[in-house]
Amino acid sequence: MPHSPKILDGKKLSQAVSRTLSKRIADNRGALGRVPGLAVVLVGEDPASKTYVASKHRFAKECGIRTFDATLPASVSADQLAETIRRFNTDGEVDGILLQLPLPKPLDGAHFTRMIAPEKDADGLHPLNQGLLLQGLPAPRACTPLGAMTMIDLALSDVELGDTTTLADIPKASLAGKRAVVIGRSQLVGKPLGILLLERNATVTFAHSKTPDIQAVCREADILVAAVGVPELVKADWVKPGAIVIDVGINRLADKRLVGDVAYNEVAPLTAAITPVPGGVGPMTVAMLMSNTVENWLRRNIP
Ligand code: NAP
Repeated sequence: MPHSPKILDGKKLSQAVSRTLSKRIADNRGALGRVPGLAVVLVGEDPASKTYVASKHRFAKECGIRTFDATLPASVSADQLAETIRRFNTDGEVDGILLQLPLPKPLDGAHFTRMIAPEKDADGLHPLNQGLLLQGLPAPRACTPLGAMTMIDLALSDVELGDTTTLADIPKASLAGKRAVVIGRSQLVGKPLGILLLERNATVTFAHSKTPDIQAVCREADILVAAVGVPELVKADWVKPGAIVIDVGINRLADKRLVGDVAYNEVAPLTAAITPVPGGVGPMTVAMLMSNTVENWLRRNIP
């Protein structure tokens, strides 16, 4: 009998996040006297960065987050950029600061990310917040891993996404007894995602470019996450039948097609659930940036 996997639709799930955030804002704005604010710092003219920033603006508007923009030329000095970040750090209306990466050379993205006040970190990439993640303490978490975790919850639930679904409808799954393999160990995705899976009691393996017999390691996974950046690396013989497969990769091919790190057509029929590319984890990353901003707003204002 042909098997049809659950396709984890990131666009629809991000709409459920948007509805959830709109409600949280409506419920709290009276008491807090204002809506959450997100500052968006864009440096230079990189077309991909501009597209990402535009989609973040749209999402913020949709869920009722106010945005503050700083659009700076690629020639901006390190001092001017630092001053912009400091201004947002002390602005009482701003709860989240997004510094769109990569920065044009010679500006160092990691250096300026560290300048963002940790309590206003929207991306969850500040070293203090990554340390709090390791300690299991509340803090903004990295957006892509958070989005991937919500996809896993959806995969393990009976929920069919509809026009009124919110995150409250999707239970947080216990992953006790499940083997999770994360391919990739970057600060941005692989490492924080592995820790989030561990927090949920999964038994976690990190695989990477030095992992011998990586196919066999991946075949043990009940939950397989690919965050690699190699087009269609994960083939059918890397996947245990019935696994949940989360494809974080976004790779642009020479013919302009966008593909993930998973060879979708051959892998999907084997899986219980899988994310498409595009339209999978990508929209959820943007949604989680907004979620972090709303959580920061609440955390900063409600002791
Ligand atoms: P990264 O910093 O380049 O890390 C890639 C990781 O993959 C490294 O840990 C590397 O191992 C590992 N790797 C590379 N080639 C491998 C191979 N052949 N076999 C096994 N492991 C291999 O990338 P990243 O920032 O984590 O991003 C990964 C992918 O996700 C990219 O396609 C990126 O565009 C995408 N992404 C998507 C979103 C989204 O919103 N959907 C967000 C962020 C990133 P070593 O550590 O051993 O070198």
